[in-house]
Amino acid sequence: MDLGIKDKIAFITAASKGLGKAVAMQLAREEVQVIICARNEDDLIKAKADIEYHSGSEIMTLKVDVTKSEQVHNAVITILKEFGGIDILVCNAGGPPAGMFEDFTPDDYREAVELNLMSTINLCYEVIPYMKKNTWGRIINITSVSVKQPIDNLILSNTSRTGVIGFTKSLSNQVAKYGITVNAVCPSYTKTQRVENLAHAFEESGKGSMTDFYKNIENTIPMRRIGTPEEFASAVAYLASQQADYITGVALQIDGGFVKGLF
Ligand code: NAD
Repeated sequence: MDLGIKDKIAFITAASKGLGKAVAMQLAREEVQVIICARNEDDLIKAKADIEYHSGSEIMTLKVDVTKSEQVHNAVITILKEFGGIDILVCNAGGPPAGMFEDFTPDDYREAVELNLMSTINLCYEVIPYMKKNTWGRIINITSVSVKQPIDNLILSNTSRTGVIGFTKSLSNQVAKYGITVNAVCPSYTKTQRVENLAHAFEESGKGSMTDFYKNIENTIPMRRIGTPEEFASAVAYLASQQADYITGVALQIDGGFVKGLF
């Protein structure tokens, strides 16, 4: 299906690896002009080479920590100078550390909110004026299924990400009249390097093998398998498409049925 977004300009944050990188790859294959950012220059160089090799499209990389508002501001200015606008914004960042209430102080919650919520808010403040001018825009905020079903041992993520959902829905109502859609996507376990690392850590801790780790997770998913970054990216690409013009303010889980609630 032609998504109708060839030559649109997409800024995908935290995209040198994992879910963000998979989204960048998918959009580059659609001949979207892709700009990715992350904190580590070497990872960005590797991601650029891989995406360009597999998509045949040239992409731009920027070294940015999304928790630093001046870096986000400068990145947006650089993109505007180079390409004249941003049509598609995919807000992503790393996840806060795992743990229970007793493991953290209030400062840890502040950091988690900076990482997941404030980074999204800063990015939207920077980009929306240009989308409004163009009367077209797609904003897709990457969260987690934890916003629908809190995950044990992830109290920081459960807390910081639900704010993103409130922000997404409120913002979507306000900018819909400018042709801008704002949606959130909520992945459950998806096979990125981060999950591979968790499997290794599980094995090294002596709790069981990596196979046991994956089996434990798969047993919680009706589809009995972990999702792939490509499946996740396809859903994001659809939300970025012309065809998704009338979809705004939703929080779409991409989870093989993991969430047990009604919506
Ligand atoms: P990942 O660790 O594979 O990739 C994270 C990317 O974010 C990397 O490119 C890293 O360099 C970049 N990054 C991290 N912090 C950053 C910052 N402050 N500024 C700029 N770049 C930064 O992770 P992933 O598995 O792709 O997950 C992406 C997001 O989705 C995370 O927030 C994660 O918690 C969440 N999530 C992932 C899963 C999963 O199963 N993979 C499930 C639910 C939610």
